[in-house]
Amino acid sequence: MKFLQPPPRFLAAMIMFLALAGCGGERQSAAAPENSAGAGSAVEEAPDMDRLARDYVLLVLELGNHDDSYVDAYYGPEELKQQAAASDATPAAIAERARALRQQLPAEIPADGDLENLRRHYLKTQLRAVIAHAESLAGAAGPSFERETQLLYDTRPPQRKLADFEPVLAELDQLLPGDEPLHLRVQAFKKQFVIPDDKMEAVFDAAIDACRERTKKHIQLPADEHFVLEYVTDKPWSGYNWYRGGARSLIQINTELPVMIDRAIDLGCHEGYPGHHTYNALLERALVDDRGWIEYSVYPLFSPQSLIAEGSANYGIELAFPGEEKTRFEKEVLYPLAGLDPSQAEKYDRVLELIEQLGYAGNEIARQYIDGEIEGDQVVALFQKYTVKSPEKAAQRKRFVDTYGAYVINYNWGKQLVADYVEQGVASPDERWQRFATLLSSPRLPSSLDW
Ligand SMILES: [Zn+2]
Repeated sequence: MKFLQPPPRFLAAMIMFLALAGCGGERQSAAAPENSAGAGSAVEEAPDMDRLARDYVLLVLELGNHDDSYVDAYYGPEELKQQAAASDATPAAIAERARALRQQLPAEIPADGDLENLRRHYLKTQLRAVIAHAESLAGAAGPSFERETQLLYDTRPPQRKLADFEPVLAELDQLLPGDEPLHLRVQAFKKQFVIPDDKMEAVFDAAIDACRERTKKHIQLPADEHFVLEYVTDKPWSGYNWYRGGARSLIQINTELPVMIDRAIDLGCHEGYPGHHTYNALLERALVDDRGWIEYSVYPLFSPQSLIAEGSANYGIELAFPGEEKTRFEKEVLYPLAGLDPSQAEKYDRVLELIEQLGYAGNEIARQYIDGEIEGDQVVALFQKYTVKSPEKAAQRKRFVDTYGAYVINYNWGKQLVADYVEQGVASPDERWQRFATLLSSPRLPSSLDW
């Protein structure tokens, strides 16, 4: 592990992780064929699917011309990138082509089954999201939280009332008594857990190492996988994984606002192991490299795949650090590295559990905002009250909803769906890991999870 000199505006750290040679791998050793429409595949419908897949990739890349946030990752054929860059297709025209493409798939496709079937289901469901997002960009559809969750994320999250969260707020109030508004007391309490700037690298290195070691015990990672870690500011998110292909990622951590000690493992697992970096690398190996299915080399952010990505990344934290293990590791390793007093660690842990429950209040605030029931300062005030965020964090959350809409459900509701799927009838920790690894290596979408 080695670090680069920090550039002026942000600290950049390069982390090279060289995996130990895997033993007895399950990986197929088939060479990765480039798209070979008409080249004669052993599977009867494969040529058609390859052609559809190629058209889908092109549509996603072309829609990216109209929305900078849309194409989260692409590492497929360069010629498609160039073809998309030269395209002047409007969102309305892209929606029309996506509809025509979708009609070439069977009307009824089960949401689960073998990999070939999952491939067809994936393409059909992802295309529905392409159409919906293109229609939004074309101005053909008004903003609607429910429309986004169903068409973009393939799910129907439970709707909760803000009043449902009063008992959670009451417990926080008891834990942190005082006269000031609760969100100010929570923020004052959290201040003692802020990682000092000069300790940031050491803490994140140790956290990421631990996330990776725990993941490697259960999942065979690509031998040459690695990522670069950068510290940035002025973003609407707290961390981001930019997948580059070839089992490589750029992971950015936003240090604009204070970073608390618990975020090190959260972000290490979520962005790295067994979260986004791992998910992307496993999908690439299992589907793009081993099978030559190029549709998985593009990742449209506003699509059902994001629920699986965010849900598995958040569930992965608890998978890697079950029960008390996260707090124990933080007390033994991270608090000393950060020079922080661990005596309040358990109380902090309970406060964080309660704050996590308030995440669903955040979904409801986003729903009201997107549906035009509240606006501006009201949104920030509700985020402060019901998710106990500081004014700055609440404003950052509003910016997040401005940029990403109903995407917020993917974190908590996505985590719940992934947890239910992975833990269904599964007893041992190792079985959980294996089901989790299977999910991360297959094109399962939200509607595939309740089968
Ligand atoms: Zn994420």
